[in-house]
Amino acid sequence: MPQRRSRTPARAAGWAALYLTIALGPLILSLIQLDPGRGFWVNLSVAAGFVGLSLMGLQFVLAAHTVRTARVFGLDLLLRFHRQITWLIALLIFAHPIILFLWDPRFLALLDVAHAPARARFAVVSVVLLAVLIVTSIWRRRLHIRYAVWQVMHSVLATLIVVTALVHVLLIGYYVDEPWEKALWVCYSLAFVSIGVWVRIVRPILRWRRRWRVVAVENEAAGSSTIELEPVDPRSFGPRGFEFEAGQYAWIHVGGSPFAMTYHPFSFSSSAQSPGRVRFTIKPEQGFTATVPDLSLGSVVYLDGPWGHLTMERNDANGFVFIAAGVGVRPRC
Ligand SMILES: Cc1cc2nc3c(=O)[nH]c(=O)nc-3n(C[C@H](O)[C@H](O)[C@H](O)COP(=O)(O)OP(=O)(O)OC[C@H]3O[C@@H](n4cnc5c(N)ncnc54)[C@H](O)[C@@H]3O)c2cc1C
Repeated sequence: MPQRRSRTPARAAGWAALYLTIALGPLILSLIQLDPGRGFWVNLSVAAGFVGLSLMGLQFVLAAHTVRTARVFGLDLLLRFHRQITWLIALLIFAHPIILFLWDPRFLALLDVAHAPARARFAVVSVVLLAVLIVTSIWRRRLHIRYAVWQVMHSVLATLIVVTALVHVLLIGYYVDEPWEKALWVCYSLAFVSIGVWVRIVRPILRWRRRWRVVAVENEAAGSSTIELEPVDPRSFGPRGFEFEAGQYAWIHVGGSPFAMTYHPFSFSSSAQSPGRVRFTIKPEQGFTATVPDLSLGSVVYLDGPWGHLTMERNDANGFVFIAAGVGVRPRC
């Protein structure tokens, strides 16, 4: 099979530059409006808040399974970055009020949500929700939150954080007075809404057109099962059909609607050289995976993928040694 180089440095640099431009874009607002009356510390605090907010918006892009970026960096790497950049976002967003409180303790009065103006209340709500999002992500298991519940909670919290922070910025008004400033925020907001529409509406519709059905369920060792799927309409995948590379995985959701929030990732355990039918070998845990041995033949499956960068086709070397543990790992054949 020909070697495919997807980690092209130029494209990766282009995406990184775009990411930085969007992340730092709102800084222009805090720098242009340098009011001598507000001073360095207020401007620094505002700059931290703005960059934190745009990075928070960009988190949706990183988690959105956007095909182009995933092809360049690999979805696994993007999701790891998505998790790690949260620390910088938290630092910037918490720094925003803390700098103000340290610079002028009178700002502490804004924490009195019962009497504070609406602009401060939205800010407090946004920061508290961010703290909840971080705590429930780090200690999800300790808090006994089921993954499926956490996933929905995570999306809702992230959306509310961005919306309340945007309302806070708009109510302050200071940095969005000029038409071009308004236009910048409108563009940012529209971009984030478009991502939401793409991820939650357009892609599920495409997945519905390219849905699969269960054609076999086989028992494996230690309670694991292998399910085999075939496309309901093979023509929907175009002349080349469905393709994946050994080592990749897909998110699947069985039955119901393609708009479901919870998809589960599984590695392809069938050969990449005959992708007309795909197989996943699944070990039972407590949730969805425990139901896999009882799946009925003909059940509809929505498949989001293929994803994953850990493939021989995407990495250049004279030879490879793979050391793997777990279920569903497939050698290249
Ligand atoms: C890239 C990748 C490839 C994988 N390939 C395989 C495979 O080939 N075979 C296999 O048996 N398992 C595989 N897994 C693990 C599998 O996705 C989880 O075991 C499964 O989603 C658990 O679902 P559940 O509802 O039964 O989980 P639960 O019993 O509710 O939870 C078990 C644990 O699984 C994780 N988990 C649950 N739901 C998800 C989700 N939607 N996305 C990510 N993690 C989740 C959580 O850490 C959770 O604590 C893979 C995971 C990843 C990230």
